[in-house]
Amino acid sequence: MPANQFICVDGRRVAISDCLKACPMKERCMFLPTLRAVAQSLERGLKEATVTELLAGTRETYLKKTVNYAVRPQDVLYALHGSSFHNINDQHTEGDILSEIRLHDAVTSGKFDLYGKILSEDDGVLGDLKVTSSYKLMKALGIYKLDMPTGEVYKTGLRKGQEKTKKEFRYDGVKHVLDWAIQLNAYRRLLEKEGFGVKRMVIQALCRDSGLRITAERGIDKSLYLIPIYRISDRWLQRYFEKKSKALKESLSSHELPPVCKSRERWGDRKCLRYCAVAESCPHGQALLAEDTKTAG
Ligand code: SF4
Ligand code: SF4
Repeated sequence: MPANQFICVDGRRVAISDCLKACPMKERCMFLPTLRAVAQSLERGLKEATVTELLAGTRETYLKKTVNYAVRPQDVLYALHGSSFHNINDQHTEGDILSEIRLHDAVTSGKFDLYGKILSEDDGVLGDLKVTSSYKLMKALGIYKLDMPTGEVYKTGLRKGQEKTKKEFRYDGVKHVLDWAIQLNAYRRLLEKEGFGVKRMVIQALCRDSGLRITAERGIDKSLYLIPIYRISDRWLQRYFEKKSKALKESLSSHELPPVCKSRERWGDRKCLRYCAVAESCPHGQALLAEDTKTAG
């Protein structure tokens, strides 16, 4: 089932169709055409589970397909920013470049962003466009901070005699790109099945909070990064998507709620608390939200 309500800035819920007819507030929270675009982006109309749906927790995808839910239009705008970014690219793909084609196999379907000579005269580059946070970028680029001795010591206070340190950036940490890697490799497989060879996979990530102090403190000093994505074995991908697809299909036909999403899929509960649109229909999300309200109160 689709998202059928908007959550307004004051927390009230309004049916999306009512919001588009008239806003009960003195003034709309964003331009009407933007709201219409937000509403339209929520209508998927696809029967089979997509690569992105299978990448999410099975419980989250199951709930999104079986219950009505409410979304904050502002949150959906981030996704829309992503698609307008896609559209800008889509209008300039003349030459040996393909874009935004939905490909299918027996298990899933996926729409890749760009394919072809997108970085040089080298053919066969699969590109994906992301608009993302500096936090996610810091993790994806393997940036972390290390306390380095300065050679000086504290002369007074509680830390008297202890060595002074300063934070320095390091860029050789673990690159947390597994979700992106699975997604791009899934598109790679779909392309290869259609006879298009893929030599490289690259993400072009635009930082959505670029220019802020917190962004610089995370070691992100550019607004755009090109991030190479490693190849994942086809056998692993096949098993991963078949397993997720089977679990989703079984739950949908038995009407049984799938097990709680894995810790990685629910970002160690951060997603449940703030970013999961169906948290109110999920027992795990409900418990976390109730606990959070109790703590805040
Ligand atoms: S315009 Fe914004 S504030 Fe008004 S009903 Fe729609 S979502 Fe709510
Ligand atoms: S609230 Fe958490 S566990 Fe429940 S569906 Fe959402 S992400 Fe999954």
